[in-house]
Amino acid sequence: MSEEKMLLEYMEKHNEAFLDMLKEAVKLESPTEGSKTDLEKCRDYFERIFSSIGFNCHVVPSNDSRYGDHLLMEFGEGDEQILFVGHYDTVYEKGTFGSLWEQEGTKISGPGAFDMKGGDVQVYMVIKALKELELLPENKKIVFFLSSDEEAGSPTSHKHYQELAKKSKASFVMEPTFGDCTAGLTTGRYSRGNYTFVAEGSPAHSGQEPEKAKSGLKELAEQAIYLESLTDLEKGVTIACTCLNSGNAGWPTVPGKGELTIDARFSSEKIAEKYDSLFQNLEPFNAGVKITTNGGIEKPTFDEKDPAHKKLYELAKEVGKRFDMNMKGYVGRAGTDGNFTASVGCPTLDGMGMSGDFAHQPGKEYINTEDIAVRGAFVARTVLEVLRMEEELQSEIE
Ligand SMILES: [Zn+2]
Repeated sequence: MSEEKMLLEYMEKHNEAFLDMLKEAVKLESPTEGSKTDLEKCRDYFERIFSSIGFNCHVVPSNDSRYGDHLLMEFGEGDEQILFVGHYDTVYEKGTFGSLWEQEGTKISGPGAFDMKGGDVQVYMVIKALKELELLPENKKIVFFLSSDEEAGSPTSHKHYQELAKKSKASFVMEPTFGDCTAGLTTGRYSRGNYTFVAEGSPAHSGQEPEKAKSGLKELAEQAIYLESLTDLEKGVTIACTCLNSGNAGWPTVPGKGELTIDARFSSEKIAEKYDSLFQNLEPFNAGVKITTNGGIEKPTFDEKDPAHKKLYELAKEVGKRFDMNMKGYVGRAGTDGNFTASVGCPTLDGMGMSGDFAHQPGKEYINTEDIAVRGAFVARTVLEVLRMEEELQSEIE
């Protein structure tokens, strides 16, 4: 029997077990900034299931009271390792999703089922299958870092991802795929910048002498329109204003001060650098108003054009064909920890997890149960292919 068939049969046979485990993980609600007890319960659950198949698990403290701790899980010994990337936090405050596990036909909704506890359980099933089918090569190490703060931008975990990725042959990011697509993958992600512009002019009485004001509010209103006009979808630039704060509705005053925050996304490092320097030196429209910039690029670009990532994607496409899947790579504007693993030159493939839709939408986020087995078998076979490769994937970029 071919390895593909063995893996697919294994996954199909274990589909119910997969759903039982996912149900338990989803019901342990774990909002990013939720209670420590809740976060710990969810983390403990993952520690328990991964330990049961032979992973050595270590708690890695986040050292930040806002977030839970991370889990570093390692399987096997060897100089060469591959890295799985996952997070157990979700965007939903406890009790805000609605029903925690709702099945309708082939769709199951639940907080974080899609983004991304489904992908986390998938890592378990992939390694369990490879182990039980005796397909795992000797002398290879599998590392799974499960973080607690991804939805907050990975403030305390990104350094761990970068360190681990530097030592890894490839990174597989188990985030859900783009939309409800059986053969979808994510092959690149925009960088993300977050900027706050502080305007300082001078206030004046809004009735008596408004003409004397150097209005911070007017300045920022003009900047908001200008900055959003820099969006260029073809070039790969999006700029969106997310907060404008100036003045007081109860006062007869033209405000001198104000703050404007933007979210900026770029398809390449080169473009990001160009816009970053523009934002760091933003020129005011109005004389007498000064602008100071806070913030910068928070997530580096995961550039799909990088040869190392391309090679991994090509390999995944070949594996996909063996499962009759015509793999399609998407570039996401939203970032993940794949941005961090890619930033240190580690060949990265993202969106390896569940198919489904409506991430971050309470009551709606769902997974497609029909795709679990085939996507699991595909991930297992892709991982095997990388573990068996003699040459380095990243040799082309060094
Ligand atoms: Zn996610």
